[in-house]
Amino acid sequence: MADQEDDFITQRETMVELQIRARGVIDEKVLAAMRKVPRHLFVPQKIRPFAHGDEPLPIGEGQTISQPYIVAYMTQALELTGKEKVLEVGTGSGYQTAVLAEIVRQVFTVELLSALSDRARALLQELGYTDIHYKVGDGTSGWEENAPFDAIIVTAAAPAVPKRLQDQLSPDGRMIIPVGAGFQDLFLISRERRGFRKKKLLPVRFVPLISAH
Ligand code: SAH
Repeated sequence: MADQEDDFITQRETMVELQIRARGVIDEKVLAAMRKVPRHLFVPQKIRPFAHGDEPLPIGEGQTISQPYIVAYMTQALELTGKEKVLEVGTGSGYQTAVLAEIVRQVFTVELLSALSDRARALLQELGYTDIHYKVGDGTSGWEENAPFDAIIVTAAAPAVPKRLQDQLSPDGRMIIPVGAGFQDLFLISRERRGFRKKKLLPVRFVPLISAH
């Protein structure tokens, strides 16, 4: 058992060096978080040997845990220092949530499917992440009561940037979100004094953001 845990540590280190740092993610806080969070625990038991592969994996309910590089890339794009209040839309396995919680103190996460939210919450609590705030519901409308957020990360693809979400950004806030149907691009939305700046970053493939309406 201990040997197997050592294997996973080695696999995480290799994942960080070859898939993440080698492709240009250099934020040490992000790299440290990716080395620390036990990714294998966030995937179904029978696919644990593949947990550190360079690809997304199924987590049940037709949903996926994102490719490690994409998790790191999106997290780095938020330029977190540690003081931010962050909203995640699409808790899924809770993996991205844990990576955020390693970096900042205040993480709020919304998931549409209660089965996934409940499972992620149980695992994250077991791992000692006790300060995360969970909500079951449609994340397209954000989490009004706790807004504004310094950073928002959306981990499912929206047909367009949801306005209600954008409006929950604090001044100077940043949001990273995949936009498009089928073919999608990752966008970084920055709130500025005169409005929002939208920057296209890279092509991606995410599961769709399901509209509850
Ligand atoms: N961040 C996750 C990735 C999950 S995949 C991880 O690290 O594992 C995207 C998730 O978004 C799925 O769990 C899906 O159920 C959820 N989702 C889809 N539409 C949603 C919506 N409108 N509001 C909140 N969550 C949504």
